[in-house]
Amino acid sequence: MAHEHDDDHSELSEVACRVRAIETILTEKGYVDTAALDAIIETYETKIGPRNGARVVARAWTDVAFRQRLLADATEAVTEFGFEGRKSSHLVALENTPTQHNLVVCTLCSCYPHTLLGLPPVWYKSPPYRSRAVIDPRSVMSEFGLTLPATTNIRVWDSTAELRYIVIPLRPEGTEGWSEVELATLVTRDSMIGVGLPLTPIPGGFDT
Ligand code: FE
Repeated sequence: MAHEHDDDHSELSEVACRVRAIETILTEKGYVDTAALDAIIETYETKIGPRNGARVVARAWTDVAFRQRLLADATEAVTEFGFEGRKSSHLVALENTPTQHNLVVCTLCSCYPHTLLGLPPVWYKSPPYRSRAVIDPRSVMSEFGLTLPATTNIRVWDSTAELRYIVIPLRPEGTEGWSEVELATLVTRDSMIGVGLPLTPIPGGFDT
């Protein structure tokens, strides 16, 4: 079953309240250690976050052989980084080109490449995004400040628990000669979902 997890967040504040109540009860009964919980959250925020995905994108921009491996089999290619986290589902890298832009959604719930992008943003889990991204992707993207030429084809990809996507955005102009580390600073989470573009480089921003 593709979507066996229950993560409908249509009532987020209610969910947050329930999570807190459950956490309080479990802590009071001594079933969980709050320090351990904090460590898990810390891991997701700092080690399993969008910086991982940014490193993958930056390498794809600088290393042609890696880019080819990534597009051929992203699940296998990203093992080169040794990221922490579960590797349960198949990962597919979607390459943006001047004529095709890719947008990722999970229409049924909130399937997301956690190892590369961390925890999904609230809007990704919201029913309006999940339905409208498919019906009217240009309108959704414009609400994120992204307007693409009418000549650019937009392809929407629906994630499942077994198949997750990362968008490889176009490398920004003006970054010739930048290192992988420098390039990674331009790669935003939203650009790897397809609702944004990488940051625009500041000329001379990496003199050191
Ligand atoms: Fe899902």
